[in-house]
Amino acid sequence: RLALRGVGKQFGDLNVLGDVSIDVAPGEFVSILGPSGAGKSTIFQILTGGTKADTGVIAFDGSELADASDKFALMPQKDALMPWRRIVDNATLGLEVQGLSRKTAREKVAPLFEEFGLAGFEQHYPHQLSGGMRQRVALLRTVIQQRQMLLLDEPFGALDALTRTAMQQWLERMWGQHNWTALLITHDVREAVFLSDRIYVLSARPARVTHEIRVPLARPRRVADLASPEATR
Ligand code: ATP
Ligand code: MG
Repeated sequence: RLALRGVGKQFGDLNVLGDVSIDVAPGEFVSILGPSGAGKSTIFQILTGGTKADTGVIAFDGSELADASDKFALMPQKDALMPWRRIVDNATLGLEVQGLSRKTAREKVAPLFEEFGLAGFEQHYPHQLSGGMRQRVALLRTVIQQRQMLLLDEPFGALDALTRTAMQQWLERMWGQHNWTALLITHDVREAVFLSDRIYVLSARPARVTHEIRVPLARPRRVADLASPEATR
């Protein structure tokens, strides 16, 4: 369980995060909505040790988070595929960073290409794939790290509306099959409502949480929920 309490951050004179408190329970899909420049990506920078919060407390499962946290797998805002590496070798990057050999990493990612709609494209280069496929490679590289929480920063932001909708539906399906916990940054209200259990709305800079919304879904989200007779969502 992740808990941010009163997190504040300034870059020089720029007061980016005012007072941000966010909780994510295991198995939850939580979204952060907020205006451009509010400081959303900064929250992920802080969680992944890219920068330090000035104020507030960040705890994971009750203990304060260390600087270099290995709890999170980040899918960054910018398309971070390396154009000179084949798709398979882009997918393994997250594992190689963890210290696995490229050979072992390749064996580990191989079974996932089918599920991610990338079968047959392992030896292609990023420019040979559509935008939606590239985002699935980036997501594959993120989930393969098997961290406790996915941090997805505008994963579908650069996609056209149709591809975006298809990707949202695909992610929703994947979500039903995997035991993921995720924190998603998005500008897209419909995306947040479609995918999330809860949504935090941030104000403009300096960001604070103005609303916390529990999404009332009347459908099962997980295979496990389907199996339980008293499941209502
Ligand atoms: P967007 O929706 O456009 O992605 P955001 O909410 O993710 O915006 P951030 O990327 O967190 O916003 O940036 C918030 C502000 O902090 C911006 O004005 C940005 O220029 C500034 N900023 C972010 N990182 C740094 C940094 N490392 N050093 C200095 N300023 C930074
Ligand atoms: Mg951002």
